Amino acid sequence: MHIVRVALNLPLDRFFDYLASEHLKISAADIGRRVVVSFGKGVKSGIIVALPEASDLPVGQLKAVDSILRDLPALPADWFRLTEFCASYYHAPLGEVMLSTLPAGLRRVDPPKARTIRRREPEIVAQVPPELTVEQENALGAIGNAGGGFCAYLLHGVTGSGKTEIYLRLVDRALNAGKQALLLVPEINLTPQLESRVAARFPAAGLVSLHSELSEAARTRNWRAAFEGRARVVLGTRLAVFTPLPDLGLIVVDEEHDSSFKQQDGMRYSARDVAVFRAHERGVPIILGSATPSLESWANATDHGTPNRYTLVSLRRRAVENARLPAVQRIDTRSEKLQDGLSGALLMAIEKRLARGEQSLVFLNRRGYAPVLACAACGWISRCQRCAANLVLHLADRRLRCHHCGFESGVPTLCPTCGNQDIHPFGRGTQRLEANLAERFPEARILRVDRDSAKSRKQWEALVEKIYAGEADILVGTQMLAKGHDFPRLTLVGVIGADAALFAADWRAPERLFAQLMQVAGRSGRAELAGEVLVQTQFPDHPLYAALVKHDYPAYAAELLRERQLAGFPPYAYQAMLRAEAPEMAQALGFLSAARACKQADDARIGVTLYDPVPMRLARKAGFERGQLLVESPSRRVLQAFLGEWRAAVAGIKAPSRLRWHLEVDPLEF
Ligand code: ADP
Ligand code: ZN
Ligand code: ZN
Repeated sequence: MHIVRVALNLPLDRFFDYLASEHLKISAADIGRRVVVSFGKGVKSGIIVALPEASDLPVGQLKAVDSILRDLPALPADWFRLTEFCASYYHAPLGEVMLSTLPAGLRRVDPPKARTIRRREPEIVAQVPPELTVEQENALGAIGNAGGGFCAYLLHGVTGSGKTEIYLRLVDRALNAGKQALLLVPEINLTPQLESRVAARFPAAGLVSLHSELSEAARTRNWRAAFEGRARVVLGTRLAVFTPLPDLGLIVVDEEHDSSFKQQDGMRYSARDVAVFRAHERGVPIILGSATPSLESWANATDHGTPNRYTLVSLRRRAVENARLPAVQRIDTRSEKLQDGLSGALLMAIEKRLARGEQSLVFLNRRGYAPVLACAACGWISRCQRCAANLVLHLADRRLRCHHCGFESGVPTLCPTCGNQDIHPFGRGTQRLEANLAERFPEARILRVDRDSAKSRKQWEALVEKIYAGEADILVGTQMLAKGHDFPRLTLVGVIGADAALFAADWRAPERLFAQLMQVAGRSGRAELAGEVLVQTQFPDHPLYAALVKHDYPAYAAELLRERQLAGFPPYAYQAMLRAEAPEMAQALGFLSAARACKQADDARIGVTLYDPVPMRLARKAGFERGQLLVESPSRRVLQAFLGEWRAAVAGIKAPSRLRWHLEVDPLEF
């Protein structure tokens, strides 16, 4: 009999010992293999983490291992180090981290039989790489070879500068050196183009993708192909960062600033940061690419008060010959009476595009018809019963919908409180904009692209197809349309309703808005046709818009970093957030106060500041009242040391039974 130490998917900071009988033939080579064990009244699958000589428990109390699964190679040591790092950095239970990073199919107690599936191999048309531009040559020259050890590069390239071509050349290098490449993208359903481009360039690389829209079987199959080294290129969203890759030689994180890299439940990790750790740990290069890098990465790559930890590589021009960055203009809307929210200048510009047979995009980052329905007689407004938020009017399917908890109801025809017939939508979302534009340009073909019209990847692809085929004249879209697309006939981008984010309570809002506007502006003028961007604003002198007009990311980033440094915000401070939710706000805040009292000494002594517990901005969500407590330190190391002990103390607080809490390191939202 051996003692086998097993990691289980449980919210506990410990492993579990079992006994393995001789006939299972468990040896050191099985560390990293899955086993089935009994736990409580049922069975669970776990991962063997060690074969210790002795257990803390008397051997007589240990249960036996039911079976061992040898269908896969054992998870390797570097995968253990990666999950251990995550558990320790994000203060999450190690067993949970380990098991939750496996595809669900491999977490089952009775793994589905590995069927040989005849895959429909998509027809791959091999693609000839274009000749590099001088800038691209230089950038590639600056980026070291796979095999040259760890180095982090920040590839800052304006929209359309050909970053993808750089990634592909680096992948090529890695493949030639016998290595695997891992490409991480923020949202895979927004980037089917990249998938086909990679497949076309490397038809023999067995490209697999890993994202949450895949069926469980497909995800398991692809994960396996990567783990067994058959897939030489892996393209995936944040969860793919944990895929064990025996020959990993390169990591690319495209659109590295994108908040989709942040996991918002369970272990709240940043796939970008985990990727950097992984590259470092494996001694391979990592490329973080963006037209608008996160300020954290920018500070790491430039001289902004932090040591230069990343190497900055820049692409300042568009790759396609004659393609210029679009001319950006501000339209001062203070002195003008808008027509359905649209200025004369923007309407005229759209008209011009219609006459020339070119496409326009009107960007409004708010979906639905109107943000709220209201009664002028009694002041009733459509509020969500479960959240501190309004119900958004969706006229396309006549529903009132909460964008936070998913609650929905029909649209009342009379005011529910006073019976008044005169209830009106207030404000404007994409559906209303679409209707307004249709009235104004009855001959135009208008296409709305947002989460409602593109719910699935299929619908999204169909919409994109239509745009490419020139079957739309005016696009109305949210930030969904802002990312990564090349529409050669799109020559006008109008931005409306952006001002709201200028003065939002969240201090990261300007960074996000700037990135969004740079990205959406970058959709126009991608080919030979020149692009124009018109931004409607009541604050034309705001530095954000001034930088946008000049396409000057570095200047605006420098300004924001100066502000952050003065205010002592990240990246000049390190933060963690303890959040609690309960039926009553008093319970949530009470728990957080008790947590605050758990620290071992006063703030100055421990070098960590604990702020007062406060209600979250969305104070109620899905029937739970929510509070948060910010923890901050100028030193990551000091913060980490504090969190380790503190979390254990917090876990010991006696809380009301319906209270839930979690700790998030490096929170992005406030
Ligand atoms: P980014 O990701 O930087 O916004 P892309 O990689 O999408 O830019 O490239 C923008 C456009 O430029 C694409 O249509 C791409 O095919 C084209 N392109 C990239 N590199 C070259 C090159 N060396 N020569 C010609 N066209 C290029
Ligand atoms: Zn009323
Ligand atoms: Zn709600």
